[in-house]
Amino acid sequence: MPVSRRKFISQSACIAAGYLAFTKTPLYTDNDLMTVNGWMAKDQMGFTLTHEHILVDFIGAAKIDPARYDANEVFRIALPKLISAKKKGCNTLIECTPAYLGRDVQLLKRLATVSGLNIFTNTGYYGAAGEKYLPAHTYTETAEQIAARWIDEWKNGIDNTAIKPGFIKSGVDKYPLSVVQQKIIEAAAITHLTTGLTIGIHTGDGTAAMEELRIIQSKGIAAEAWIWIHAQNEKNRELHIRAARAGGWISFDGVSNESIPDCLSFLKDMKSENLLDHVLLSHDAGWYHVGEPNGGNYHDYNTIADKLIPAMKENGFDEKDIHQIFFSNPGKAFTVKIRKK
Ligand SMILES: [Zn+2]
Repeated sequence: MPVSRRKFISQSACIAAGYLAFTKTPLYTDNDLMTVNGWMAKDQMGFTLTHEHILVDFIGAAKIDPARYDANEVFRIALPKLISAKKKGCNTLIECTPAYLGRDVQLLKRLATVSGLNIFTNTGYYGAAGEKYLPAHTYTETAEQIAARWIDEWKNGIDNTAIKPGFIKSGVDKYPLSVVQQKIIEAAAITHLTTGLTIGIHTGDGTAAMEELRIIQSKGIAAEAWIWIHAQNEKNRELHIRAARAGGWISFDGVSNESIPDCLSFLKDMKSENLLDHVLLSHDAGWYHVGEPNGGNYHDYNTIADKLIPAMKENGFDEKDIHQIFFSNPGKAFTVKIRKK
């Protein structure tokens, strides 16, 4: 595990001062990302898919239970898909399944270790889909109490493991946001201000995205700490441009054979506005579907490598653009760093 010079210095300083306890959770640096296998320097990230899934269970927060699937079977089915992505050049995969939707961090760690991919997991709650995936305590606790649970995962690990989240994953439906959806975004903002974890929000439409940004900025956080997930749900390109100009990350993460023309149109518009440095692209693909025989239809993660990148090259995007979107931007977007306005 590479250790950045700044972190090495800060760790050494702590040891010298006798603050050994701090070395368990290294101090914040501006050059690191958190994978399921621990800290990683930005230059180790490589080609990154910023929004994918390995395991999802849609049963709902009230009935979710790891006993509903066999982790060994999921491992056996997911591993060839991850190895295939690695062979296509992918080096890092950001797994976006939140708690209460099938997040299984030990499974992710096993898969990362064996496949050789860097994998990230997340903290936070998903309030989209009519709030079916929110645990009951989301309704009774304050934003501060909910944030305390997520901050605890960052400080002490997830589900009694040492595995830490690499970002905050939340979700809301279309505008207007419900009271509880607003509360989980506030909780994400509070968590960011303590942990420096980037806030990625599954978003129903552009008006909801603008509302998320307003809440986050109202807490004194810069838009650079926020990812508008599923920006393709919004067809009004002006809102993408407005959010990117404010500093946010625009995640066009439904890349498939069918969506390539739409994706190219989005990329051309962002390039003409000089905003490719705020774009993230991914498939939202996978995954093992809990409850279906053999996990159902597990889609591979290769459409970007096989289809989109060749199409980008045919449409005037050069190596520099491709490097920006798949190498530079993910490293910046997911850097663990408190970003104040
Ligand atoms: Zn997703």
